[in-house]
Amino acid sequence: MIIKECVICGNKYKVCPTCEKVATFSPWRTLVCCADEYMIYSILSQYDNDRDADVAAKGLDRIGLSKKTIATYRPSVKNQITEIYRKQKKSQEHKND
Ligand SMILES: [Zn+2]
Repeated sequence: MIIKECVICGNKYKVCPTCEKVATFSPWRTLVCCADEYMIYSILSQYDNDRDADVAAKGLDRIGLSKKTIATYRPSVKNQITEIYRKQKKSQEHKND
C-alpha cells in the first residue's frame, strides 16, 4: 500500500499497487483523493497553461465550490482559486465599461 498526499486538500490517502499501475485509466487516483478534486486539479493546471481566469472560474462554478470547502484546501490551491475569481471579476468590470 502506498500513501499519497492529495495535491488539492492535502489529505493522506492510500493507493494500492494496482491503482498505481492502472494510473493511465484513472490518473486522478495517483494525484488526488477523490474524483471531484481531480476536476479542480485539471481546471487549475489548465489555468496554469493558458492563464484564462474566465474559463477557470466557470469551471469552478460548475463544480459548485463553497467557501467552506475551499477553506480545507492547501494554501497554494486556495491562493490560486482566489486569484482566478479576482481576475475574472476584473475582466467582467472591463466588459461593463
Ligand atoms: Zn483531496
